Amino acid sequence: MNQDPHSINADLHCHSFYSDGTLAPAVLVQRAKANGVDLMALTDHDELGGLAEAAEAAADLGIRFVPGVEVSVSWGGETLHIVGLGVDPDSPELVAGLAGVRSGRDARAREIGEQLAAVGHAGAYEGAAAMAGNAGLVSRTHFARWLVERGACDDVRAVFLKYLVPGRPGYVPHHWSRLSEAVNWIRAAGGVAVLAHPARYRVGELALTTMLEEFRTVGGTAIEVASGSHTRDQVRRFARIAAAEGFEASRGSDFHSPIESHADLGYAPVLPDSVVPVWHRW
Ligand code: AMP
Ligand code: MN
Ligand code: MN
Ligand code: MN
Repeated sequence: MNQDPHSINADLHCHSFYSDGTLAPAVLVQRAKANGVDLMALTDHDELGGLAEAAEAAADLGIRFVPGVEVSVSWGGETLHIVGLGVDPDSPELVAGLAGVRSGRDARAREIGEQLAAVGHAGAYEGAAAMAGNAGLVSRTHFARWLVERGACDDVRAVFLKYLVPGRPGYVPHHWSRLSEAVNWIRAAGGVAVLAHPARYRVGELALTTMLEEFRTVGGTAIEVASGSHTRDQVRRFARIAAAEGFEASRGSDFHSPIESHADLGYAPVLPDSVVPVWHRW
């Protein structure tokens, strides 16, 4: 690309109803186009099913598209999300790896349902599953939407605080993939691995340093410095870290739905000039 990548409106993180977003892939692409996005990636959780539809819509609308995924990882008691960008959706390693990550979801969702039933919300599993566009991907977000619909809380964020996080009666710990596995699958598929929304992890400085060292060692390339869920201070902090540690930087809204998301498509904070945009290669 000849254009300065900093001048491009890139949104490299969002979700369709193939995971826990509410929109169809083609509708997401239309919305991105309407919002002035130049380059977008669809990054459904542990799932590649929406990529073909999104790529086709992007070609029709004349918007540049990068196939992506957001892989769930268990690391030191925390769940990390690793975004893979530029992945081949037909990569056997990636396809098999993600199938393994998805395989435990249903049993986990049933357990979440049992815990919620014990605090007065019977039928939560069936309700959440009915709200999921993808039967193999019932997520906490679907439980949250169901509980909002029932009037248990005003919005999805309130449900998470009350029910779906560690220590609350609807949280079921789960083993996802290992950091090295997730990065290996992404790289085997020809993609680059990005540590998603680093400010969201509940870790101190020391653990963050360890996390980044391990991420680099296993082949990680970039940090999502500009996330829709990051404050301006967090963007500055992770831009400093990316520049100091030699990581490239990514930008993504993490858009899930028109009413729930921190940022609409194309409206994540802008990347500071001090970092190298990961999308220079596209
Ligand atoms: P799961 O993969 O089933 O554990 O669900 C994780 C998803 O829940 C994330 O991708 C977010 O979309 C959503 N989520 C996690 N924490 C929160 C929160 N505090 N508020 C709103 N949504 C959240
Ligand atoms: Mn999500
Ligand atoms: Mn995430
Ligand atoms: Mn996400």
